[in-house]
Amino acid sequence: MHEATLAENILDIAIDAARQNHAAKIFKVGLKLGELSGVEVEALTLSFDVLKKNTPADAAQLVINRVPCRATCNKCGKNFRLERYNFFCPDCDGILILQSGRELLVDYVDCE
Ligand SMILES: [Zn+2]
Repeated sequence: MHEATLAENILDIAIDAARQNHAAKIFKVGLKLGELSGVEVEALTLSFDVLKKNTPADAAQLVINRVPCRATCNKCGKNFRLERYNFFCPDCDGILILQSGRELLVDYVDCE
């Protein structure tokens, strides 16, 4: 995962959102990040803090909400919270369908 590119995209989205709202300053950028997205939060925050300088997001804080990984078994219908990606149901060996955990999106932009 290229955290710097990702930070750039997030910043672009935030600045666009601010522009659309005729806002001059961005305070917070909320991010939804699935546990399986493979993003290094520390590297992402660091890149964001460097890139935001001299933009309307200068003082913006990146707020990251981790989304846990959940999957449902296609055989017994049980819903599991996964610590790591797993293809098969631990109960019946059915195939697990991933419900969440790969999210990577800007949830909200707090600006004025
Ligand atoms: Zn099952």
